[in-house]
Amino acid sequence: MISTRDSASESAPEPTLPAGAAEDEPPPSCPAPPSPATENARAGKRWDDWRWQMGHRIRTPKQLLTLFPELRHSPDLTPLIGKYPMAITPYYASLIQEAAPSDPIFQMCVPQMQELIDPPFLSADPLEECHDMPVPGLIHRYPDRALVIATTTCSTYCRHCTRKRVAGTRESTIGKQRLEQIADYLGKHPEIHDVIISGGDPLTMRTEQLEVVLATLRRVPSVQILRIGTRVPVVLPQRITEALCAMLKRYHPVWINTHFNHPRELTLESRQACERLADAGVPLGNQSVLLRGVNDAPQTIEALCRGLVQMRVRPYYLYQCDLVRGVEHFRTRLSRGIEIMEYLRGRLSGLAIPMFVVDAPRGGGKIPVLPTYVVTQSPTHTVLRNYEGMLIAYPEPYEPGLGAAAEPSETSAPGVWELTAGRNTVIRPEQSVRLTRRQACCPTACTSEASE
Ligand SMILES: *Cc1c(COP(=O)(O)O)cnc(C)c1O
Repeated sequence: MISTRDSASESAPEPTLPAGAAEDEPPPSCPAPPSPATENARAGKRWDDWRWQMGHRIRTPKQLLTLFPELRHSPDLTPLIGKYPMAITPYYASLIQEAAPSDPIFQMCVPQMQELIDPPFLSADPLEECHDMPVPGLIHRYPDRALVIATTTCSTYCRHCTRKRVAGTRESTIGKQRLEQIADYLGKHPEIHDVIISGGDPLTMRTEQLEVVLATLRRVPSVQILRIGTRVPVVLPQRITEALCAMLKRYHPVWINTHFNHPRELTLESRQACERLADAGVPLGNQSVLLRGVNDAPQTIEALCRGLVQMRVRPYYLYQCDLVRGVEHFRTRLSRGIEIMEYLRGRLSGLAIPMFVVDAPRGGGKIPVLPTYVVTQSPTHTVLRNYEGMLIAYPEPYEPGLGAAAEPSETSAPGVWELTAGRNTVIRPEQSVRLTRRQACCPTACTSEASE
């Protein structure tokens, strides 16, 4: 079991940056060969430097084995990594408690042979993003928003990545000319009000590079909000520096959606990163992916969402895993997501409940999927159910032509049809926590005195 930051930094290669390097110097493209870490690194000084983390990502099977010798009997990952690159920040690797697929952090970042499972209904680009690209690097699918792929680099390559076809296969960043073409397109499409900067991970870019992107997009008068999609607060929280926050602040309104999937990712470092962003006035959302064997238990998602709102991060989407090649082993049944949504509603504040969405194949876009709450309808009533199983008749607006609904009656036979006809107003479960509390505390309706 290797779980401390010391063991991770000891096995990481020697830092390649001088200790006093400027905050935004580019990360070294090629890490030095492994050697024991210095006292300095052990003391955490370089550990806390995001460029050190970028320069010391675990990228080869050899580096992985140095960190986790217990993997020496596992299959050779070299061909797999050739197809789907690996990178893990020393920080994220330090969150692994056990080098085994039962460990959620391990599963999300360490390549597994199952990535080669390839049933015929999968494709490299199921969302057909390449068909919605009027300019290379710009995906325009929805009427009022568009997405810019600003870089193909990530600090850590998620094994469940939806852009596995591009992420990391060539670590490159958008150039000035491409960016101008995108700004041009946005200028000609004033209906686009919201631009999402995605990738790869845009926060792996140098602050000045990212600023060029933000400044270019801000020049387009019709662009109202800028959004950044990033997993950096989860896998490289050291990157959220005061200098970065100060830069982002100059381009408000800037929103950030991050990507926490498991409560074990909610560390002190991540919390501080989110707090720095929130303090800079950046509203934070979270987009999780439902992953088999990682976070597909309702209690896991509940703990994650509770933790997120405490960090001022609003759970935004819970994604069904896409039909992407290389991630099939993570896919759950659609019913699992519905079960989880059923579990969350009634237990958790609405603020903490994400929307479960399927990003539809064939470029259909995000489709919300919910448990069924509308039980049945008639012209006069809609019958709704709540999380407890209570069925309530909701009377539609009075319309003289429709004829009056029947008077509710105590003696009416119980049944859903009686609710739609107005003969009854509610069917209650025999007991619930709420109904028991009601009986104990306040069995009668409020008098005007009591409610004042
Ligand atoms: C997800 C996505 C968006 C943003 O969708 P929201 O529902 O507004 O978060 C925009 N463009 C593309 C291509 C997307 O995949």
